[in-house]
Amino acid sequence: MTATTALLNVENLYIGGDWVRPSSSARIEVRSASTEQVIGSVPEAAEADVDAAVAAARAAFDDPTGWSTWEPAKRADTLDRLADELESRSEEMSQRVAAQNGMPIAIARQLEGGFPLAVIRFYSGLLRTTSFESSHPHMLGGTTTVVREPIGVVGAIAPWNFPQTLAAFKYAPALAAGCTLVLKPSPETVLDSALFADAVQAAGVPAGVINVVPGGREIGAYLVSHPDVDKVAFTGSTAAGRSIAETCGKLLRPVTLELGGKSAAIVLDDAELDLATIGEKLFGATLLNNGQTCFLGTRVLAPRSRYDEVVGVFEALANSLAVGDALDPATQIGPMASERQRERVEGYIAKGSGDGARLVTGGGRPKGQDRGWFVEPTIFADVDNNHTIAREEIFGPVLSVIPYSDDDDAIRIANDSAFGLGGTVWTSDDDRGLSVAKRVRTGTIGINTYLPDPSSPFGGVKDSGIGRELGPDAIGNFQQVKSIYR
Ligand code: NAD
Repeated sequence: MTATTALLNVENLYIGGDWVRPSSSARIEVRSASTEQVIGSVPEAAEADVDAAVAAARAAFDDPTGWSTWEPAKRADTLDRLADELESRSEEMSQRVAAQNGMPIAIARQLEGGFPLAVIRFYSGLLRTTSFESSHPHMLGGTTTVVREPIGVVGAIAPWNFPQTLAAFKYAPALAAGCTLVLKPSPETVLDSALFADAVQAAGVPAGVINVVPGGREIGAYLVSHPDVDKVAFTGSTAAGRSIAETCGKLLRPVTLELGGKSAAIVLDDAELDLATIGEKLFGATLLNNGQTCFLGTRVLAPRSRYDEVVGVFEALANSLAVGDALDPATQIGPMASERQRERVEGYIAKGSGDGARLVTGGGRPKGQDRGWFVEPTIFADVDNNHTIAREEIFGPVLSVIPYSDDDDAIRIANDSAFGLGGTVWTSDDDRGLSVAKRVRTGTIGINTYLPDPSSPFGGVKDSGIGRELGPDAIGNFQQVKSIYR
């Protein structure tokens, strides 16, 4: 695996269709989450580099015969080539992501290596069948033509937990709309962003249409408030989202925000609880990517009538998981993405015990893992929905089991949260599951499964964000609508 056996040192920044010298000598060094070893580095973009990237995106957007003016089908061809180039790099991409953020490689292959391709191809397919112009009779006489025009230069900011997938949620519909972009990856995951830029160049995406500026929150904030950015698309924490919303509010700049979550996994009293049948789906909905996934149902709501059984199932699930190096194909739980992240998770575990929750399993560092930022899969029972571990996003492999009395009580507890992003209902009666799912205040929810669908809207309510990504409507996030009266 190249990312761990050889240092991956990237010399230049991808701006304006070329690899250009950075304006400063500052670099971002990346460590393997599994070994803590340095595995590579990239130039850290400074303000001058963001200026250059935005100028390149602006020039590409304003080009009178350029990308934004192309026939949709021609943009679709470019998107398809980008998907093909990413597909040919998919194994390397998966390995880079797994090495950096600790995502188990088996999961990285499906999600980081595979999901972006599905997203890109969904939008290229849509471009071939959708028209961005329509006409209808003007109500007071004549004709009105409605044109959906690309909004302009997009500042796209991605987090480290699914760096490629969450970037694709932004660039694929933005490119479909005819926008140009400056993408700022998170400093924890920059080696994959260099490989992405390589694919962009190989696919023949015109110069300036996609530019990549690795950097931290200051450079992110600089991009958000840049005078030549027309639209911001952000995924990350609620705290950062609030700050970005404030800036965009002052600037009257359109913004979509995909933020944190603390979703409920509602186990109804008729749920199938045999791990051999539901284990894989339950894992995907509650512990995927070491718990570092925004939509997970980390509050497990268990009926009092089957409470001990539910606690036992989650205890058995946690104890069955193979914890290890993210690059080992057998690993199901890898390390936390960073030392800071592990400290944060361990702080919540201490808080859970301190608040009186019962530690059922886990809570420490796994034996035999002396290196890497590992945390044991951890289950707390007897959690009160007012405990800190039930209210705040932990972003680690830590689940809280909360008892409830009947379906109304379960829905009340599920909705008693500042967040509303994901969630699941576990039941052997699909109709009952659907009626419970409809009453949960959330942007997405699954019944006996949870897997985002590229062709359907994804996003949150309340503190989980504003707006939706994915699905046909997400192209509208990157368009302005103009009515022409004739
Ligand atoms: P973060 O908010 O610290 O950082 C996210 C990105 O924003 C990074 O690229 C960071 O450099 C940048 N950033 C931070 N502060 C900024 C600011 N003030 N202005 C501009 N850019 C800024 O989040 P993180 O720790 O990287 O990611 C984890 C968080 O992301 C969790 O809260 C998780 O729930 C959330 N998340 C949400 C979704 C979703 O779709 N709703 C998906 C994945 C992750």
